[in-house]
Amino acid sequence: MGRTGEKIVEARRVSHAYVPGRPTLQEVSLDVAPGELVAIVGENGSGKTTLVRHLNALVPLQAGELVVAGISADDPTHVWELRRACGMVFQNPENQFVSSVVGEDVAFGPANFGAGEKDARLAAARALADVGLAGFERRDVHTLSGGQQQRVALAGALASGPDVLVLDEATSMIDPQGRDELVRAVLRARSERGTTILWVTHDMELAARADRVFVMRAGEVAASGAPKDVLVDRALLEGAGLEPPFAVRAWEGLVARGVASGPAPVTVEGLVSALCG
Ligand code: ADP
Repeated sequence: MGRTGEKIVEARRVSHAYVPGRPTLQEVSLDVAPGELVAIVGENGSGKTTLVRHLNALVPLQAGELVVAGISADDPTHVWELRRACGMVFQNPENQFVSSVVGEDVAFGPANFGAGEKDARLAAARALADVGLAGFERRDVHTLSGGQQQRVALAGALASGPDVLVLDEATSMIDPQGRDELVRAVLRARSERGTTILWVTHDMELAARADRVFVMRAGEVAASGAPKDVLVDRALLEGAGLEPPFAVRAWEGLVARGVASGPAPVTVEGLVSALCG
């Protein structure tokens, strides 16, 4: 069951139909390298959640091949190992807690995967520190802001030391400050733990900061590549029900007025340096 080395997630022609004859996913292939940050974008109903839920066996593999951290998803006996290899953070923080006490909730994952009480507590403390919530162990999750709750959920996923972390619309129910804190915590987990990140998002500014973007359309991968290539393609994005990020839209306006030329920057930082540099 060793690592494939080069790829931490390998999906080959994965198809899925909740209702026979009405495919939700059609031959989706996707490779992710260890430590990569991949954004998955696409309009509602395009199959993003169905795709990522295959990674920890929340959706069983019906057709195709899927290997996560060297574990094949085509064997139902691998469910436990897949759950350990791939942590998930969902849209609604409140639905993700197993205990209302922060420390107990975050320690649940490692304890569930066999860590002793002390090790589970240590793993929880480290994960809480990593998400900027050191010392929150005794707090009641219901007294926290939405953004803090989502970081507790993130700590809960990180505490088990997953190889891959999936975030599914994890910022859509929290305020902008909570969103920024969550993004920072995820990026820190990635740099400090080397965790691979798959981020399902509607936020094109976030997608612009990924290493690669996958665009889903009607259950298929319509395009994938670096943000600087994918997020500047207005026709492609509009065909998938999406809009380019702010920097691209602003750049297009400047190009139309003849005050800018060349490839569009995809992030605000890139826009500023293109204009000021
Ligand atoms: P996205 O995450 O891009 O919004 P989903 O994977 O949630 O897409 O949904 C893709 C399609 O599958 C939608 O048409 C949705 O209604 C359908 N679907 C999702 N979950 C189920 C389910 N449990 N049973 C039946 N259909 C489902």
